[in-house]
Order: sequence, then structure tokens, then C-alpha cells
Amino acid sequence: MPAFLFSVARRTPRLRLAPLRLAIACCAAVHAWAACGAPATAVVPAGIARGIITPEQPMWMAGYGSRDHRAEGKVHDLHVKAVAIGEPAVVLVTLDLVGIDRDTTRRITTLLAERHGIARERVAINCSHTHCGPIVGSTLVTMFALPQEELDLRTAYTRMVEDRVVDCVGRALADRKPARVGWGQGTCSVAVNRRENKEADVPAIRAAGRPLRGPFDHDVPVLAIHDEDGQIRAAVFGYACHATVLSFYEWCGDYPGFACLELERRHPGATAVFWAGCGGDQNPVPRRTLELAEAYGGRLADAVDAVLDEGALRPIAGPIDARYAEVPLELAAIPDRTAWEKTLAEGNRFEKSRARHLLALLDRDGRLDAAYPAYPVQAWRLGDGGPRWIFLGGEVVVDYAARLKTEFGRETTWVAGYSNDVMAYIPSRRVLAEGGYEGAGAMVYYGLPAPWAENVEERIVDAVRRVVTPLPAAGGDR
Ligand SMILES: [Zn+2]
Repeated sequence: MPAFLFSVARRTPRLRLAPLRLAIACCAAVHAWAACGAPATAVVPAGIARGIITPEQPMWMAGYGSRDHRAEGKVHDLHVKAVAIGEPAVVLVTLDLVGIDRDTTRRITTLLAERHGIARERVAINCSHTHCGPIVGSTLVTMFALPQEELDLRTAYTRMVEDRVVDCVGRALADRKPARVGWGQGTCSVAVNRRENKEADVPAIRAAGRPLRGPFDHDVPVLAIHDEDGQIRAAVFGYACHATVLSFYEWCGDYPGFACLELERRHPGATAVFWAGCGGDQNPVPRRTLELAEAYGGRLADAVDAVLDEGALRPIAGPIDARYAEVPLELAAIPDRTAWEKTLAEGNRFEKSRARHLLALLDRDGRLDAAYPAYPVQAWRLGDGGPRWIFLGGEVVVDYAARLKTEFGRETTWVAGYSNDVMAYIPSRRVLAEGGYEGAGAMVYYGLPAPWAENVEERIVDAVRRVVTPLPAAGGDR
């Protein structure tokens, strides 16, 4: 019987983490993975649950500043899904939402700790970034200047999401039963670097057989959960690309939602779970029709199925290590009150909205923070030799995936963005220097008073290094 090693992070004043390893014997009998032809693998407890978070009444939609009225209908439901693996479990929560803020995440993780005893570092909450979901919490707080009635709907909806996440996680924990958990990686070429390629030019470039400009990340990490008889129970997969095919007024999960529906159609009884990677500067191109969203979802489902079908899934067994940290991220120089008063008088409606928000903070606090106080960084190591799964907050550009995969090993490193707190775009040093929407301009919609400071990439990468599990001295892929 192999032993599972679990790591618990303890908070320290500085990075708020310090590993405390506990060896816990677990029911990890080794069996053959007969149905898939995969090598012998351990049995790991795993549970899956889902719930619906489609708003129950019409409300404002998130994602595009041009939105000017409430949603009018629904293409398909929005979901919360939860996947619990191990004992004690790590729990991935996915939401078909544009993003959630840190207060919402904290309420959820506090409730999960109280009701289910889950340590903070063992819960990761990822949003698909669909632009056909509702406004929620304080995410993109200054994108719209909404009347109180709409804000009240938003508050009520946010509380509903919190309750449903906690309920869903409880059911996923209760659903845990012996499973074979494997992982692999496919590829899908839907994502296009939207900073480097003009959207209108992309079809002609493709037709001419010329390469699109990068960088991009076409990897499709897959975590597969099978029961002991070889039946698939869940396919958990990531992709680094904005969920912005659609911009109409109907609730929809966009291409990730269609990818999940297609996988669940092909594998009746299974749950498909999408998590968003570092697609802050990536778009699906072309866009704007339901048919395209379905087609991209189908291509992503094909990529996942190729990993499932080739029978080459690598088993997850051994220690499941989890760590979490929050670090302050400094901002560039912040304009003074006079500048915000001028913007309030002369700016466009988005600039005015941000100025109004910041002046209210100045009235309340007498100052604006020179840093975002708590940028979240999280890392799981799924077993001996299993993938390192890194979760970053914000709309992370693809450079971070490239850098972290280079540093920690492309085959064994998964990097999620849009996790735990979506407070802004997260440009790399390169993108920050270039400027533009992801480098600076989008801050106006997130209500932050300045672009990130020049050290943003180094601050985040340093924090990641501190939460990534050190490899045994004997070697590895680092
Ligand atoms: Zn975005």
C-alpha cells in the first residue's frame, strides 16, 4: 500500500505559506487500468458535482462595455462544477462567469473551511471568462454605471453563486469514490494572439497557408477520471483563449460551454469541466456567430477526446501537494485627486465611471493604495511525477504560460489564469512595455488607478517559485 503524502500550508506573515508535511496512509491499492489499456495505476478517491448558476431573472451581462440592457434569453445554462480528488481532497471549482473578485472568493473559501474543513490552498476557483454571463461581485466594477436596482440584482446573484458553489463542493466531496485519475495533453489551434494579428486579416492569412503571429499556447491539458470499471466520469481540461465568440444578449458558456456539452454528448453520464488558461491576449477568430462558438467547442472536444482515446494517460498517484500565497502587486504612479476630478469632468463614460469610483475611495480612505494588496498564486502537485497545476489571478497573458512551462517543464506544467480573483489584466513585462489594452488600457474597466509597475512579471514569477513544490533531490523535470 503506497502512502499519500499531503502538504498543508501554514500562514506566515510574509508569503503566508510554509509547508507542513503530513504522511497519511490512504486506500491506494494498485490495479490494472484494463479498460483503457493504460499501465497499472493507483486508485484515488474522486468526486464530481455540478449545479446551475444561470440567473433566475433578467439582469445585466458582463464582459463588454457596450452592453446597454439586461439579458434577453438563454442558449444553454451556466454552471458551477466541482471536482474533488484525494483525501484530504483538493477541489477545483469552475464557474461559467467572466470572473469573480477576491471578496467573493474569500466568502466561499471561508464557508468551505467552516463546513467541510477544506484548507484554503486545497480549493482553486477558476472562471471560464464567458462574456455571455451576468455581472457578479465587483469584477469590472467601473465598466458600467448602473442604477441601484441593477446593483441589487448583482448582489443577490453573487450570494446565490456563493451558496451554490459551497453546495456543489459539498456534493463533490460526498461523491468521492475509488477512481483512476490520469492526465495527458492535447493540442487545439483555435486561439489567436489578438495583439499580433488583425482580426479581419486572420482568415486570409490562414487561407494563404501563412503562419499567424504569436505567441500563443495551443496546449490542452486533460485530467481524466475513470471509475474502477474504466467508465469515464469526468474530463477536466484547460485552454488559453478568451471566451468571446459571442456578444449577444443570451446566457451562454461560449465555446467552452459548447466544448463541455459536446464531450458530455459523446460520453453520456460523464461531466466535462473547463478551466481557463493564460488567454488574456488570445481570441478565437473569426467570431460572433453561434455556429462558430459550437465549432470551436467541437474542436476543443476533439482535442480532449484525442487524449482520452489514445490510451496514453499517465496515472496520478502519490503525494498531492497544495500551496497558496497572496502577494502585493505594485502599481505605476497614481494620478492625484485633481487629475481624477478633471477626468470626472472631461473623460469618456468609462473614464468618468472610474474617476467617480476612485474619488469615492479617496473620500473614504484619504488615499489610493499604491499596490493591489493580495494577488493570489496557487500551485498543486498532482502526485509523484504528475502535473504541477499553477493557478494565477487575473486575465493573464500567454507569456506567463510560456515562461513557467519553460522553467518547470512543458509536459508537466499546467497554468490557469482567471483563478481565485480576476482583478485586472496581468501583462508580462513585454506586454506592459508595449502598452495597449492588455498592457494598460483595460485598467479603466477594472477600477484600478494606474497600470502595473514594471516589476509585475517578476513579482508573480517569484511568488510562483515559492508555491511550486520543490522536487525531490533525486531529479525530475525541472
Ligand atoms: Zn478578457
